[in-house]
Amino acid sequence: MKLTHIEHIGIAVKSLEVAIPFYEEMLGLKCYAVEEVADQKVKTAFFKIGQTKIELLESTDPEGPIGKFIEKKGEGIHHIAFATEEGVQKSLDELAGKGVQLIDKSPRKGAEGLNIAFLHPKSTVGVLTELCEEPGK
Ligand code: ZN
Repeated sequence: MKLTHIEHIGIAVKSLEVAIPFYEEMLGLKCYAVEEVADQKVKTAFFKIGQTKIELLESTDPEGPIGKFIEKKGEGIHHIAFATEEGVQKSLDELAGKGVQLIDKSPRKGAEGLNIAFLHPKSTVGVLTELCEEPGK
């Protein structure tokens, strides 16, 4: 396994309209993209700090994964995403071979066109963990 950096931190928010101004006006970061990922029933807003992004996630459907997360746990950190150098599929295969429970057995498309896959929090000491890579790597 070769992880290179924290690609992004996903934060569940009730409202991008409320959350974006906090990051922009209080923390001085600039929102450079807002994107809806219909598949995941979320609207995302991105900020960059160093090599790492902050990904705000607002649910577009109470039955979606972020809608359910907020109902259960409230707003807050939802997941952490690591960039993997050797590719998501290879990393998943390696982890599965070591007994790690996977949510995604193969990569799918996430926001910003990244290939992503999630590991099950039961196997990651409680933190929903995402692996990602730029496509075509
Ligand atoms: Zn993510």
